[in-house]
Amino acid sequence: MNSTRHIVVVDTETNGLDPRRHQAVEVAWWNLTTNERGMFIPTHNVSEVLANADVKALQINRYVDRIADQVPSVDSHERGKFAQQLDGCTLAGSNPAFDAAMVEKLLRPRHTLQINGKPVTTWRQPWHHRMLDLSNYAAGMLALNDLPGLAKVCELLDVDPGDHTAEADVTATGECFNKLFARAASERELTVAELS
Ligand SMILES: [Mg+2]
Repeated sequence: MNSTRHIVVVDTETNGLDPRRHQAVEVAWWNLTTNERGMFIPTHNVSEVLANADVKALQINRYVDRIADQVPSVDSHERGKFAQQLDGCTLAGSNPAFDAAMVEKLLRPRHTLQINGKPVTTWRQPWHHRMLDLSNYAAGMLALNDLPGLAKVCELLDVDPGDHTAEADVTATGECFNKLFARAASERELTVAELS
């Protein structure tokens, strides 16, 4: 993909599927344009996460075994780096609308500023409004009839789907994108060669 915007693949592990009730408990990102990567556990209240959880979500991401006892008391450095990556980027993922909603919940300040007694919104969505969904992109590139999930795209492109950590999901998603971008580039070259 030849874009002036950086493409940043994001995956969040959460304690459920509803951004209004649930929250991100692990975040990973991979800037496919610069190849920089990062992963962090956002500071959160473990009891709250457990109390509000959809048990199935915690089973899939193995929250209790992997995350619950690793929660940092401060995450501002990693969080700041992440926010910087998102500025002006094309946010990419496997169903990135879900991760975008979870990231918005994570980064948006909880308290609205009051200036002269009026609420002022200080937060704006840092990423570009058009997002890049692996499911749609793969369906187009591979001429599929259905919108595939990440596991299906991995199978079709011979990419290791990993073990459901945020980092593994980002790796699998990014590798699928890179394979599809390479395929698109060679198809474009063929088209140019045919035309000349
Ligand atoms: Mg994931």
